[in-house]
Amino acid sequence: MKFISTRGQASPASFVDACLSGLAPDGGLFVPETWPRIEPAGPNETYVDVAVRVLAAFAEDELDEATLRGICERAYASFAHQSVAPLVQWGPNAFLMELHHGPTLAFKDVAMQLIAQFFDTVLSRRGERMSVTCATSGDTGGAAAAAFAGASNVDLFILHPFERISPVQRLFMTTTGASNVHNIAIDEDFDACQAIVKALFADRDFVVRSGLSGVNSINWARIAAQAVYYATAQAALGTDRPLRIVVPSGNMGDALAGYVAARCGLLHGFEAVCAVNENDALRVLLGEGRMARASAVSTPSPAMDISIPSNFERIAFEASGRDADLIRQIYNQFAQGGDVDLPEKIKGPLACTGLSAKRVSNTNTLEEMKRVHDETGWLICPHTAVGTSVARSLPESDAMTVVLATAHAAKFPETVEKATGLTPDLPHRVQGVIARDEEFDRVANDLAVVRTFIRDHQRL
Ligand SMILES: *Cc1c(COP(=O)(O)O)cnc(C)c1O
Repeated sequence: MKFISTRGQASPASFVDACLSGLAPDGGLFVPETWPRIEPAGPNETYVDVAVRVLAAFAEDELDEATLRGICERAYASFAHQSVAPLVQWGPNAFLMELHHGPTLAFKDVAMQLIAQFFDTVLSRRGERMSVTCATSGDTGGAAAAAFAGASNVDLFILHPFERISPVQRLFMTTTGASNVHNIAIDEDFDACQAIVKALFADRDFVVRSGLSGVNSINWARIAAQAVYYATAQAALGTDRPLRIVVPSGNMGDALAGYVAARCGLLHGFEAVCAVNENDALRVLLGEGRMARASAVSTPSPAMDISIPSNFERIAFEASGRDADLIRQIYNQFAQGGDVDLPEKIKGPLACTGLSAKRVSNTNTLEEMKRVHDETGWLICPHTAVGTSVARSLPESDAMTVVLATAHAAKFPETVEKATGLTPDLPHRVQGVIARDEEFDRVANDLAVVRTFIRDHQRL
């Protein structure tokens, strides 16, 4: 299957090339040329069975089934729960889908474990190496470090803001002990880290010579991997029962994966409510049809402190009837600095996608963590609490409500303590992380210095 760009000026790419490059060369996002039909998950299929079928629908003849099965089996062997994404009942007709059973206790593991196996397999076949580079303010870096540690064909460079991320989050990325994982602590904030990564990718010469690749949430392999748990949730709760899925959202990769699952026939209907914190750009987009400039503010749910939800571009592309010229025009206009009112051609169909968004304040997030503990005895993470708070506010419905639990409470001990007065225990399987030695290099906030660091440490 070929992948085309939402901005229409890149030549179609194969599945493997679209995933290895992340962003399309014209600045747009890759989407499949047509939506494949995928049979819904059956009650007797394992998580790996469903993952293999979903990937195969996009990869077609580029990767055979045995190869895909090997990739998926290795990826999900690192999970502590055999169901990978188990459902637990939270209230009458309401469930949590626990996405935090991976090695770094956040849902990013579900896609990152798969992407690492996938990259290593296809690169070894091609006899190539790549340098994966990302900026992180929290969960992405740890998930990438755990997934790529020891990969034979990938060197990983993670930029994090020095002394500005939580200790638990930092430990997950700095204690792998793997020689191909390089942690770069930048003497500045997260925005500076992200600006350096953007500048590295803008340097086409460096990108080509260094085999630079990205694994941020716009990578199609991540979206495909995340579509799988929507399919298994539908199978577990009954193939003929409509679901109402509440998705704690930032860059909208997770909610987009639900939309993709529905478009491919994996779901019985589609209703997804994006739960956002005080950074509510997504609510303004889906509710008012407006792209507004804002800077991110810090909240108790930091993985969702996003001012421009990048995956929205794919939804806008579909809503526009795949009008790449219009999408290019809108994003150019937005890049030039102003707010953009989406045209009717997008706004109308957008209202019929099944996607909506609701905002939760910082105060309500903390109150919600307390309330869920009072009701169930569970400690939940602040991102999940934004989700359960939204679920509570929805009108009665025959649909079964599923809130995605995106991280383990123990990843955010300070916030959990503030909200409930209790300290969540780290699960046994990750307690070793705390005891190990940390490795990172402190580097100046300087593009040239980082570029040299990468050149000096990559195995080409
Ligand atoms: C990344 C993340 C989110 C947001 O997911 P998006 O795909 O960016 O919308 C929510 N919760 C947690 C814990 C995360 O790490």
